[in-house]
Amino acid sequence: MNITAHTRPLGLIGYPVTHSKSPEMLNEVCRILGIPAAYLAYPVKPGDLEEAVKGMRALNFIGFNVTIPHKVAIMPYLDELDDTAKEIGAVNTVVNKDGKLIGYNTDGVGYLRSLQEETAVSLQDKTVTILGAGGAARAVSITLAKAGVKEIFIANRTQQKAEKLAESLCIFTRARSVSLSEAQGVIAKSDLLVNTTSIGMSPHTDQTPISADFLHAGLLVSDLIYRPKDTKLLTSAKQMGAQTHGGLGMLLYQAAVAVEHWFGKPAPVAQMRAILEKEA
Ligand code: NAP
Repeated sequence: MNITAHTRPLGLIGYPVTHSKSPEMLNEVCRILGIPAAYLAYPVKPGDLEEAVKGMRALNFIGFNVTIPHKVAIMPYLDELDDTAKEIGAVNTVVNKDGKLIGYNTDGVGYLRSLQEETAVSLQDKTVTILGAGGAARAVSITLAKAGVKEIFIANRTQQKAEKLAESLCIFTRARSVSLSEAQGVIAKSDLLVNTTSIGMSPHTDQTPISADFLHAGLLVSDLIYRPKDTKLLTSAKQMGAQTHGGLGMLLYQAAVAVEHWFGKPAPVAQMRAILEKEA
């Protein structure tokens, strides 16, 4: 990359960030699109977030990505939030528009693009069970609710969080929380099952959020985990004859949509996917 006095900063803030593949992927995007920018990963401790945002504003960053633990905490330090970020209640992408910092959330739309591209599923009138009620569950469930699914069941270890999420979905579609013991019954009548918990993520690849007995051949099983690519849940689902969808596509498209927000150009997704697949 040719860094000159015209090169502008872009980056990722989170804590930790050393695991991130975004610098490699986003610097390649800038090279392909001919954007004079350099993307770095910045470890920002929670107590330093406000100062970090002030610094990025002062240094005229093009924009930045936001990851754990700052996705919610950053919102008061931004000038504007788009409607999706407001609905989801979290920000993963910030655009600096003429000095004004605008927060977006591209996780939900990234998930939806990936799901539709990889499975061609029609979501109209479908019944969905979501396992988990954290940040990713919120982004995915709100997006699915707005995409026309008929009904959403939320099952989570902490049931209070599932209840709160289900309540907030009711303005878009039918939604209710279920206990983990009720999950088998609702999965039996579901078309789509989405694991948004971290159960099964590397290095705990022998774990699965539900028993394989809960799965059936008519189900599309989607797991947000991308490391490993084939979680134990997805392997069991395949053995059961179910269609499967892994988390790498969501990772790709949430970044691709961020690129579109920053540069107003389509992202080079094939090259981005190649980098993620090499690293996964
Ligand atoms: P989060 O806000 O911390 O939520 C974690 C969820 O997992 C909560 O529902 C939590 O239940 C549940 N959970 C964690 N450990 C558990 C355990 N041992 N037993 C039962 N439930 C457990 O995290 P997040 O940001 O939503 O991320 C969740 C997963 O999605 C992670 O694996 C992350 O890598 C993945 N993700 C993928 C992408 C992508 O681009 N593919 C994007 C975002 C997230 P409680 O509420 O009871 O704690």
